[in-house]
Amino acid sequence: MDEVTRQNREHTLFSWSVQSQANPIHMTGGQGVYFFDDTGARWLDFSSQLINLNVGHQHPKVLEAIKAQVDTLCFAGPGFATGPRAELGTKLSEVTGLAKTFFTLGGSEANENAIKMARHFTGRHKIITRYRSYHGATMGSMTASGDMRRWPVEPGMPGIVRVFDPYCYRCPFGKTPDSCGRECVSHIEEVIQMEGPQNIAAVLVEGITGSNGLLVPPDDYYPRLRALCDKYGILLITDEVMSGFGRTGTYLSTQHYGIMPDIVTCAKGLTSGYMPLGAVIVNEQIAAYFEDHMLWGGLTYSGHPVSCAAGVANLRVYEEERIFENVREQGAYLEGRLLAMRDRYACVGDVRIKGLFSVLELVRDKGSKAPLAPYGGSSPEMNALAAYLKAHRVYAYSRFNFLWVCPPLVITRAELDEGLAVYEDALAMLDRQLL
Ligand code: PLP
Repeated sequence: MDEVTRQNREHTLFSWSVQSQANPIHMTGGQGVYFFDDTGARWLDFSSQLINLNVGHQHPKVLEAIKAQVDTLCFAGPGFATGPRAELGTKLSEVTGLAKTFFTLGGSEANENAIKMARHFTGRHKIITRYRSYHGATMGSMTASGDMRRWPVEPGMPGIVRVFDPYCYRCPFGKTPDSCGRECVSHIEEVIQMEGPQNIAAVLVEGITGSNGLLVPPDDYYPRLRALCDKYGILLITDEVMSGFGRTGTYLSTQHYGIMPDIVTCAKGLTSGYMPLGAVIVNEQIAAYFEDHMLWGGLTYSGHPVSCAAGVANLRVYEEERIFENVREQGAYLEGRLLAMRDRYACVGDVRIKGLFSVLELVRDKGSKAPLAPYGGSSPEMNALAAYLKAHRVYAYSRFNFLWVCPPLVITRAELDEGLAVYEDALAMLDRQLL
């Protein structure tokens, strides 16, 4: 272990880690879809650093904008007007079709504020979220999350009610495409009635669920959910922290489904992670409400000018370099490759993909669909898979029985092929182990 890694481990705490097991790579630089470690090794980043670094490492235009803003004005309090804040707010209204943006420092805080604003606006307190969801690691957002990451903070924030997800491969209602009556939506209506519609402020869902196995909803899920929310005067909040800002080839993943949420939360791809920034973007009615009601919220660093400048430059790169077109093109190619893997390897049970947001769901055998690792746990096979990818310097995100492919959105076909070749070898190895 080199000195930097040793000091990191000795004097800092790593997130989401048992400290004694933390085994960080010492990252020393990056370029495009690659990063480098202290041994000089080059890693292909197939995870975009927590599905975040959309324009890749060290994009010169974003770096330049950050440096220029640092030279001009490094900080202004959240009550001041600044150029970057004006430019980014205006751009966000344009690309989302919503009215106004409240800036935060990241995704968790965006969800905290979305919940707070929804409660103030509606005068109701309950928030419906889904079991297979993650909304962040602050107290409120962690409670709002549905997956096991909320367990350590429970009972957490009161007023969260959970429903099941549109998880078609393992439909929680036992349905198949032939028998499906969109029970995943009608079940939400039943829950609304049992909880009292007059008590429910919002339904909060990930645009497309990310870290719980990338659940792409059926095409009519969102139109139905939108109609349900309208029927009961409940706000629809979509968390686009992971699925938004180009990851699926659009600014908002719900733009694929032709609906408009009332509130959108985002972070990650907003600046491609170059500076910490999140946002709560609200519709006309909610924006109007806060014209004459106090918005109880905001931190010292809200609307940070350097973060906003990074956001402006990042969105400009999306447009100037036609990044979303690349997502659609490479995404279509990736889809073909992943589907071929599903056909070729016994351990690949399902493939779910939208743009460059994709996952392989791994199983012991296709017939039983027995997961290759249990929910919330690991298995020798999943550990062997992760070790294989690491040994071949492909940095991938895997969790439970899921293996993601979420590279920076600037990836080329040759770079995709490079990583997918290693994935293929790893899956073939798993198949041999499972025989
Ligand atoms: N929401 C979703 C869907 C996420 O995937 C994440 C983080 O991965 C968050 C919220 C939390 O964002 P942050 O880590 O920026 O607070």
